Amino acid sequence: MDIRFDGRVAIVTGAGTGLGRQHALLLASRGAKVVVNDPGGSVDGTGGAATVADKVVAEIKAAGGEAVASYASVAEAASAQSIIDTAINTWGRLDALVCNAGILRDKAFNNMTLEDYEFVNQVHHFGTVYCVKAAWPIMRKQTFGRIVVTTSGSGTVGNFGQANYGAAKMAVNGLINVLRFEGAKYNIRLNAISPSAYTRMTESLLPPDMAPWMKPELVSPMVAWLCHEDCDQTGEIFAATAAGYARVQYFVSEGVQFDPAKPVSIEMIRDNLDRIRDLSQAKPYFGMMGNVVEKLREMGRVK
Ligand code: NAD
Repeated sequence: MDIRFDGRVAIVTGAGTGLGRQHALLLASRGAKVVVNDPGGSVDGTGGAATVADKVVAEIKAAGGEAVASYASVAEAASAQSIIDTAINTWGRLDALVCNAGILRDKAFNNMTLEDYEFVNQVHHFGTVYCVKAAWPIMRKQTFGRIVVTTSGSGTVGNFGQANYGAAKMAVNGLINVLRFEGAKYNIRLNAISPSAYTRMTESLLPPDMAPWMKPELVSPMVAWLCHEDCDQTGEIFAATAAGYARVQYFVSEGVQFDPAKPVSIEMIRDNLDRIRDLSQAKPYFGMMGNVVEKLREMGRVK
């Protein structure tokens, strides 16, 4: 059976260009009513034009779908609230929120102004928080919601010149890690997409021979799945690029276990670094370091 979104209402922030546009087009093509949010503007977040969102709305309507434009910025709480209000005022509900809006202000940290650091976080981190915060009571009341945040390998593994961006992209992972617990009993599922695609944001950064394969529309099926009622995953990160899809997870090494009843010296750390760092026996990291409780039990330190 085809995956459909009939009767569902979705918001895609930053849906005027690049990845967001493709997410919006795909969701609408499968029956979702879509708020196409985008204030327009350049990659660094300056300027703006209503025509950017309007064009995507027109495309959706021309294909027989339903959509409404929102020109508000995610970067201030009141204006992010207005994006959520657009969905409620137009269609009376909100089923899926895709926090995709983003900008870049790349510079080596030494040359980066705090203003540029703060503004990038304002859009990516707080822009996500403001939208999720406004959607949260609605989704709780409905006992249904699907939220997708947009993270990046620039945060997970780092990238020169993107301290502001990398930190903001990791912040949204922390947000969903916590909210997956708080949303669980309300059937609110939150996941992160870690995309890699050829858009205006990355056209100068990606190898040109990869460009034809890294189409933004190849990221959208993963995002759309995470928006669907059948998606039961929550708190997970999915990488998507060039028609490849995978899950991203933190791992923890087997490490070393000393007796916590005895002092641990700096030298003991130095002398065991290879074992501490050895990932050959690594396991997914779920907060407690490896099997530390079992190890302390074996030592007779806990019952
Ligand atoms: P893009 O520049 O084509 O699209 C970003 C969109 O966000 C634009 O339409 C822009 O107008 C909009 N936007 C900017 N500031 C906004 C604001 N304050 N409020 C609402 N909308 C705003 O870039 P893209 O590559 O499509 O990026 C989409 C998302 O994916 C971003 O969050 C980006 O950081 C993330 N991402 C992209 C890649 C990639 O390879 N393209 C990799 C990792 C993460």
